[in-house]
Amino acid sequence: MIGRKRDHRAASEESLVPQVQTVRGPVDTAELGQVLMHEHVFVLTADVQQNYPEEWGSEDERVADAVRKLTELAATGVRTIVDPTVVGLGRYIPRIQRIAEQVDLNIVVATGCYTYQDAPFFFHHRGPALDAAFGAEVPDPMVDMFVRDVTEGIAGTGVKAAFLKCAIDRPGLTRGVERVMRAVAKAHGRTGVPITVHTHPRSHTGRLVQEVLGQEGVDPGRVVLGHSGDTTDADHLCELADAGFLLGMDRFGINLATTFEARADTVVEMCRRGYAGSMVLSQDASCYIDWVDPGVMALLPQWRYTHIHEEVLPYLRKHGVTEEQIETMLVTNPRRYFE
Ligand SMILES: [Zn+2]
Repeated sequence: MIGRKRDHRAASEESLVPQVQTVRGPVDTAELGQVLMHEHVFVLTADVQQNYPEEWGSEDERVADAVRKLTELAATGVRTIVDPTVVGLGRYIPRIQRIAEQVDLNIVVATGCYTYQDAPFFFHHRGPALDAAFGAEVPDPMVDMFVRDVTEGIAGTGVKAAFLKCAIDRPGLTRGVERVMRAVAKAHGRTGVPITVHTHPRSHTGRLVQEVLGQEGVDPGRVVLGHSGDTTDADHLCELADAGFLLGMDRFGINLATTFEARADTVVEMCRRGYAGSMVLSQDASCYIDWVDPGVMALLPQWRYTHIHEEVLPYLRKHGVTEEQIETMLVTNPRRYFE
C-alpha cells in the first residue's frame, strides 16, 4: 500500500480544510467556487496527431486559443473545471501546465483509462492477463500507475491527479471495461480520490457500475455517473441518485441525438423531484477535439464552455429552478465530491 485512504491530503498538513490538487497545486475545497465537473481542454488521438499534424497546426496557436476560450469561461464566474482527460484521450500535462499558468481558473486533472471495449494493448500481456501463465493472480500494473499519478504526480510534472476516470458505453461490461473499472476502484481504495465514470444511460450502464464498484467497496457518493443527462428518463436517474450516485448532467450543447430543451427539462424535472443535491452540471466541451470533423463542429454552435451560463442557467431559472438549487449543483455538490 502506497497511501492510506485520503492520503492525498497529507501534503497539505498546514491546512485545516480539505484540499484538491489542481494543475497549479493544492486548492482549499472552499475556494473551488463554481465548478464545471466535466470539461476537457484537449481531446486528442495522440499517435494520429503525431503522424498527421496538419489539422492540429501550431502548438503555440492551440495554446493561445485555449487560453482565450478558458479566459472567456472564467469571465462567467466559473472558478474551476474538472478535466477527465486520461490515457485514451491524449492526456499531456505539460501543455495543460502552459495553459493553466495563463488562465485564472483551477484545472483539476484525472488519471485512469478511457475505453468502451478492450484495455489498451500496452496492458494485454501484463497483470491479470498473465494469471494463467504464472498459475497465480498477478496484480494489475494499472492500479500502481493510477496511484502514482495521484500520490507522486503525473510523468515527472509534479501535477497530481485529483480523481479517477473510467468508461462504460453501449457494449456494456466487456472484459477490458471491467478490468479498468476494477483498477480504478482499487486505486480509489488506496488514495481516496473520487471517481468519474463515462456511462451510457440509455443502456442503463449505471446499474453495472453500481454492481462492480459496489463489489469493490466504493461509496457511490464519491462517484459521478457521467453523461447521465443523455437520457430524459427521470425515473431511471432517480433510481441511481437514490443509490447514492452523483449524476453528471454534463453534455449541455451536444444536441445531435437530443435537444437543448430535452437536456434542460430533465434537470428541471429532477430539481422539481428534489434531486438538486444529486446533480452536477457541465458541457463535455473542449478547446479542440480531433474526433470531430471541423465542419461538423460548426453544426454544434452551443457546444462551448460558456453555454451553461449564457443559455442553460437562464432557462432553468425561467422554469422554476431556484438560485439555491443552482448553487447546490455548481458549488456544493462538487465541493462535497472532493471532500
Ligand atoms: Zn468527456
